[in-house]
Amino acid sequence: MSKLAILGGQPAVTIQNPERWKPPIEEEKEIVCQLIEKRALSGAGSGLPKEFEEEFRQYVGSRYCLTVSHGHLALASAFYAVKGGPGDEFIVPALGYIGTYAGALHMGARPVFCDIDPETLLIDPSDAEKRITKRTRAIFAIHLWGNVCDMDALMDISRRYGIPIIEDASHAHGAEWDGKKIGNVSDLTCFSLQGALPGGKPVCGGEGGIVTTNNREYYERMLAYCHLHRHGLKDELTLPEYSELDAEVLGLKYRAHPLALALAKVALKSLDYRNERKDAFRRKLFEALEEIPGVKPIRSYPKAKPAGFYGGLVLVYQPQELDGLPIEKYVEALRAEGVPIRRSFGFGGTLEHLRTIFRKGFDLWGYGRGPLGGEFMGLPPFKPYKPGDFPVAESVAGRILTIPAYIEPEEGFLEQVIHAFEKVAAHYKELL
Ligand SMILES: *Cc1c(COP(=O)(O)O)cnc(C)c1O
Repeated sequence: MSKLAILGGQPAVTIQNPERWKPPIEEEKEIVCQLIEKRALSGAGSGLPKEFEEEFRQYVGSRYCLTVSHGHLALASAFYAVKGGPGDEFIVPALGYIGTYAGALHMGARPVFCDIDPETLLIDPSDAEKRITKRTRAIFAIHLWGNVCDMDALMDISRRYGIPIIEDASHAHGAEWDGKKIGNVSDLTCFSLQGALPGGKPVCGGEGGIVTTNNREYYERMLAYCHLHRHGLKDELTLPEYSELDAEVLGLKYRAHPLALALAKVALKSLDYRNERKDAFRRKLFEALEEIPGVKPIRSYPKAKPAGFYGGLVLVYQPQELDGLPIEKYVEALRAEGVPIRRSFGFGGTLEHLRTIFRKGFDLWGYGRGPLGGEFMGLPPFKPYKPGDFPVAESVAGRILTIPAYIEPEEGFLEQVIHAFEKVAAHYKELL
């Protein structure tokens, strides 16, 4: 094998910008212009926003679907749906993203972090179960990178304790568990519509969010909570406790922008195609990398069908297979070979429990009030988190590597990338 590029040899990957798939920009312009001409720039529950909700609802097969202005507000409304509020706790994995639980935190609930599964990097259901208390209002499961959490184990916990599961499927539009689309598996599933094709959330329109459920009460609670002035709202509120509310219900307006939903409607059309193509690339790459020392692709549970593109394809560095070669050197060598690989620490650059607010506590609402300070609404004083609290997440966080999730990579690119990994694995001793 030839000399490593980092030591002056020829790079293994010669194809630059390998993505051949083109976002449907003309179609996006057309649908947005139509709404501008119709002056249909605000509103919900009718017109294009309603059409999109109906299409997405049918796509996942759920009974109900609501769109909102951001993914994190979809998650906030889901927490409201399960009657989350001040003095509650919720369980969420230490490797994740603040948007999953920011809404619940601001409603006065306290995050209780849990560890992850070392092979899938997703919530470890048995560790989550150990952290349940009488105050636990919900468990948030995040399908990071579109890899699906162990929904059988989570739903079993949910049934045994009567605690709802709220899925954060912000990266996982089109993913499945046991042949069922994510969005139709647990109590409530939330999706983000943030970003633009091809690198944004799998269905996207700049900013936006979706929540799906099969539970009528959850649906009506979310409607009443944050869908001020939605068309037909009063007719949809049928349960006695909500139907008697007046027309302005509870006053919040988190509805989605119609232009964002128009873009999302276009993105939804190509979702299955993009997911299939990406998954073919993922499978071939992962299969080859299983055999090459230095990295281990993340595993998926047998019933999971992963989906999505956001965050890329995930590998975990295995320094012990390369005599302890530092990760920085390994990544530098691969990048010199032309592999578009980079280090990634979850989505905020840190594990969740090691954010300043959880290491030190925080006076969230001022005047010494809130879930991260002293005694609060039945919660005992907040106990700050520290390094060492979540051994699995902490041992893996610094070793996560990602490669973009290509849809239509140029012919020969995959083989070049695999060759680059083989080359670095064959010559790593020269880097020690
Ligand atoms: C994008 C994202 C969200 C929600 O994001 P918004 O920017 O509010 O749409 C939530 N969770 C995860 C894991 C995300 O990546």
